[in-house]
Amino acid sequence: MTLVQRLVAAKGAMDDEFAVECPYCGEQTTLYLEADVQGTLIQDCEVCCNPWRVEVWWEDGERYVAVTRGDGS
Ligand SMILES: [Zn+2]
Repeated sequence: MTLVQRLVAAKGAMDDEFAVECPYCGEQTTLYLEADVQGTLIQDCEVCCNPWRVEVWWEDGERYVAVTRGDGS
C-alpha cells in the first residue's frame, strides 16, 4: 500500500521529514530526505529490515514520497 504524507515543511531547512508507513510491518516511521534527493531509492525498514522502494518526486513545488515493497511481493 502506498502512503504519501508530508510531515514537516520547515522553512529554510534543507532536509524534509515524511511520515511513512512500512508496507511490510505497518510501522509508522519518519523518513528524512536531503533536499536534493529525488527519483527512486531502496531503503530498509528500521523495524523489520525489509526493503522499501522509495519514490520521491516534485509536484507544484512540493515534494512527495511513496513507499512500496522493494522485493516485488
Ligand atoms: Zn517494516
